[in-house]
Amino acid sequence: MEKKQFQAESKRLLEMMVNSIYSQKEVFLRELISNASDAIDKIYYKALTDENLRFESESYYIKVEPDKESRTLKIIDTGIGMTKEELESNLGVIAKSGSLAFKKENEIKDGYDIIGQFGVGFYAAFMVADVVTVISKAQGSEAAFKWESEGTDGYSIEPTTKETVGTEITLKIKENTEDENYDEYLDSYQLKSIIKKYSDFIRYPIKMEIESS
Ligand code: ADP
Ligand code: MG
Repeated sequence: MEKKQFQAESKRLLEMMVNSIYSQKEVFLRELISNASDAIDKIYYKALTDENLRFESESYYIKVEPDKESRTLKIIDTGIGMTKEELESNLGVIAKSGSLAFKKENEIKDGYDIIGQFGVGFYAAFMVADVVTVISKAQGSEAAFKWESEGTDGYSIEPTTKETVGTEITLKIKENTEDENYDEYLDSYQLKSIIKKYSDFIRYPIKMEIESS
């Protein structure tokens, strides 16, 4: 397993992100869902130009999976995934946007769907999570990798296994404090209303099981 430090600037930026950029913690979900949507858009764009790729819309979706028992929230997508190098450069360097680079490379002009550009949204996850784990398998690759971080200390990357192409993000949700109730991010009803509020415009299906009570 490789253990890496964030760059010094990244450390300070990360602290700032977690403590002051967003007034509402709940927007972390908007950020992760927009990244998932961008990842699916990228497969879609690739399929437009690559005859060997087919975009079958039923295979592309975003899934939100809360689990109160383990205090985890998963955000899963069937998008383009990330290689080891992409995990390092896109998640290891704050303010680096793989999505902005993708738009430039493919000469995708404004007005198209890919949302990402600033390279900071992902770190909003640390507002609600003590540990963030990203397991990803890139399209066209056989290997999968696991990126993990507890915040400002840096991150680790190691090989893992994953059957399908795409990305699975697991947030270990923080314990409640006197000022903040984090339990709501494990509750499917609350999550549903957060999704409705911020992610209604996303054009891929967002799936979540609603618990019967
Ligand atoms: P932005 O979306 O503005 O580019 P983020 O901090 O939200 O910035 O994400 C950084 C980069 O990490 C993205 O540009 C993208 O390259 C990569 N990324 C994040 N989440 C995913 C995902 N679910 N699938 C594939 N790539 C992702
Ligand atoms: Mg983003």
